[in-house]
Amino acid sequence: MGGTFDPIHHGHLVAASEVQSRFELDEVIFVPTGQPWQKGHREVSAAEDRYLMTVIATASNPRFSVSRVDIDRGGPTYTIDTLTDLRATYPDAELFFITGADALEQIVSWHRVEELFSLAHFVGVTRPGYHLNDHHLPRGAVSLVEVPAMAISSTDCRTRVATGRPVWYLVPDGVVQYISKRRLYRATER
Ligand code: ATP
Ligand code: MG
Repeated sequence: MGGTFDPIHHGHLVAASEVQSRFELDEVIFVPTGQPWQKGHREVSAAEDRYLMTVIATASNPRFSVSRVDIDRGGPTYTIDTLTDLRATYPDAELFFITGADALEQIVSWHRVEELFSLAHFVGVTRPGYHLNDHHLPRGAVSLVEVPAMAISSTDCRTRVATGRPVWYLVPDGVVQYISKRRLYRATER
């Protein structure tokens, strides 16, 4: 499961857990993106902070792990590179790529989309506020999975911290504490 994870929240975690169970996956590997110069108009938090929050959030689940491939490659992340690197690390594995409904909508605009589908089976999960469909995608390339609806986004978590509102119960406790310790998302520090 790729993502910016800025910060990781319970929407990511519940989706990963649900897909792990549904497909009986041995492992879900969270892959924080490399450092783009910008994501849209926004500065993205340092890769190490996003990586560590992802480690903190996933540490207690024996089937969850975190990969540094995109962070260590550096620059903007293309999913084709993520999957190529993971394939090299796990030559015999059956790879799945978990993506939310919003990211799936944009999939056709991704780099080298036909090759993507040959590298992994894509799993599109429901997300409140987005319509999940695969009309624009090759038949059979993607499985659509309904997951518990968590109306949580990293954008909202960042806005909450910046405006002094709580993120308790939206992100794992350790992530709340890490955000506070590192003073992430403080409005004055943007
Ligand atoms: P941002 O608001 O910064 O874009 P985000 O909450 O969308 O953050 P991302 O890191 O962009 O989180 O998302 C990583 C992946 O997780 C994407 O495929 C996204 O669709 C999926 N995802 C994020 N939040 C949810 C959610 N609440 N339910 C289901 N899928 C989600
Ligand atoms: Mg997003």
